[in-house]
Amino acid sequence: MEDNQNTENRDKAYCSMCGRSEETAGKLIHLPMNMFLCPECMDKTSNMIESQMGNMNGAGAIDWGRVMGMYGSGKTDEMPKSDAATALKENEGDGKNKETAGEGEKQEEKPKPKVSFLNLADLPFDFGFGGRQRVKKRDKKDYKPLLELKDIPAPHKIKEKLDEYVVGQEQAKKVMSVAVYNHYKRVATHTMDEIEIEKSNMLMLGPTGCGKTYLVQTLARILHVPLAITDATTLTEAGYIGDDIESVLSKLLSAADNDVDKAEQGIVYIDEIDKIAKKQNTNSRDVSGESVQQGLLKLLEGSDIEVPVGASSKNAMVPTTTINTRNILFICGGAFPGIEEIIKRRLNKTSGIGFHAEVKNPEEKDLTILQEVETEDIRKFGMIPEFVGRLPMVFALEGLDKDMMVRILKEPRNAILKQYQKLLELDEVRLNFTDDALELIAEKALKKETGARALRSILDEHMIDIMYEIPKDQNIGTVTITKEYLEGTGGPQIELRQG
Ligand code: ADP
Repeated sequence: MEDNQNTENRDKAYCSMCGRSEETAGKLIHLPMNMFLCPECMDKTSNMIESQMGNMNGAGAIDWGRVMGMYGSGKTDEMPKSDAATALKENEGDGKNKETAGEGEKQEEKPKPKVSFLNLADLPFDFGFGGRQRVKKRDKKDYKPLLELKDIPAPHKIKEKLDEYVVGQEQAKKVMSVAVYNHYKRVATHTMDEIEIEKSNMLMLGPTGCGKTYLVQTLARILHVPLAITDATTLTEAGYIGDDIESVLSKLLSAADNDVDKAEQGIVYIDEIDKIAKKQNTNSRDVSGESVQQGLLKLLEGSDIEVPVGASSKNAMVPTTTINTRNILFICGGAFPGIEEIIKRRLNKTSGIGFHAEVKNPEEKDLTILQEVETEDIRKFGMIPEFVGRLPMVFALEGLDKDMMVRILKEPRNAILKQYQKLLELDEVRLNFTDDALELIAEKALKKETGARALRSILDEHMIDIMYEIPKDQNIGTVTITKEYLEGTGGPQIELRQG
């Protein structure tokens, strides 16, 4: 029965290294975790390991057929006395394994256990579940800032660059440009500790799809610093199901090619930060809310953090390294649904005693109410004071309206329209959109309530036919997408090539 199953599995199996099936590659060897190896890859593997081991300390040949056969056939009693897995262990050169070797010597008299473990993650090639990660770390005296003082663009230059990609959000772009400029100036001049100014960590509010993540991505690209984007909803207090808080830094480390010095000057963006607000009226331990905020405190303020390398949680099997977060810029973002009510209540209260002018048109005020946000409102929303205190730059992004959506379609350097135009240009076809067609796309996107994210899917849907049909006819010179075409009541306007 079991044999049948094995044969069945094997029929559908492919070599986990070269991807060939049993028919083309020959009989596959069944490994744990339902992986297979063909004889050719097995040979290559064996050679690689032998040369690797040989390089380390001149170990002898390894009988891979036997090692792997142990898993496939279960004939463990055929294993030689000094089995290959033990050989692997004994050949590892670090001090820890010398102990193991020592133990092995002591046990030489005793009969060897017939079960052996081979850690595939230790092998010098990637089986797809994470090999050993090497971390680069320099001496502190060799510390070099990623951005020298002279290379840091002035705030207006940073904003100019942001303008090329991000539509609107003027205030946010200005605040970010200044904050980032100040931050990297202090990193470049080693004055992060000396100046009694708070770190420029930021908290961004804004509805989904209005460009929060995009702003941070663009910023990191302009400055050429590593960026890690992470979602606060995946984080939990250590020991609970979910990612440890330090995993935020693991991502940054891998974005910095495992170079600790680079990572220590990078940017971390934590999205959906509003989802870790304190849970109201709960009696159980708030492991994904307040506890995560508490856990993030030590990251935000700047301290040495032990970080798992290449994994999302710390355990005995995962190597760790220490990252200092003093120079890392943390930016948090979230939609904070319902915070408008909190802001309004505060404004109404204060307007009664004369700090704020009477709101004449409440609906008009509603559109910009988020811009009035203050740390007090964020605390009331459920963020703990210590957390808010470590994010001194608080600002809001505007929700997108129809005009902004149309601009997003056509203005940014990598605008979706420009991308389509470029593609058709390669076929020597000009692509135009009428204004009302663009407005219709914007209206449809607004209805989806996912911000600018919806634009691409709507446009893609309508462009499939165009991209399919146009290359068929060599005579087509210009295509104009009309509102009628998008509504399905007419076709696109086609102009043929002259001459
Ligand atoms: P969120 O605010 O939810 O983080 P994103 O920044 O991920 O939203 O936006 C989704 C996509 O929409 C971006 O990848 C970008 O292409 C586009 N986008 C959103 N806002 C803007 C904007 N203001 N200017 C240009 N593109 C934008």
